[in-house]
Amino acid sequence: MSEDNCIFCRILAGEIPSTKVYEDRLVYAFRDANPQAPTHVLLVPKEHIESLNDAAQGDEALLGHMLRLAPKIANQEGLADSGFRTVINTGGDAGQTVWHLHVHVLGGRPMTWPPG
Ligand code: AMP
Repeated sequence: MSEDNCIFCRILAGEIPSTKVYEDRLVYAFRDANPQAPTHVLLVPKEHIESLNDAAQGDEALLGHMLRLAPKIANQEGLADSGFRTVINTGGDAGQTVWHLHVHVLGGRPMTWPPG
């Protein structure tokens, strides 16, 4: 999917409303519209990258930044003691439905393993 009709690019452009949780120069985090846990935040790069398959060597700092932000967002959501799960779905079998790289940050209930 192109950047033009990417839902998350439209959220970043302010064309689709979202509930902001965190923002900096590189990333934006907002609440998932269909939460799968009491806390369900999506963390996305402001740059359009379709999936982990499309992340380049030059994106390593960005990816590291996103992973380091996940616990900060979780802690901001009060999940420091209970724990949280980070998920990056990549491709059809993994259940990726929005083709703009995103980290799910989920918490507030016990999670099972393996995932469905
Ligand atoms: P994935 O299936 O890993 O690609 O995750 C995409 C996520 O985006 C799903 O959890 C959706 O509920 C969520 N989502 C889709 N559209 C919106 C939206 N407009 N605002 C917030 N979350 C959304």
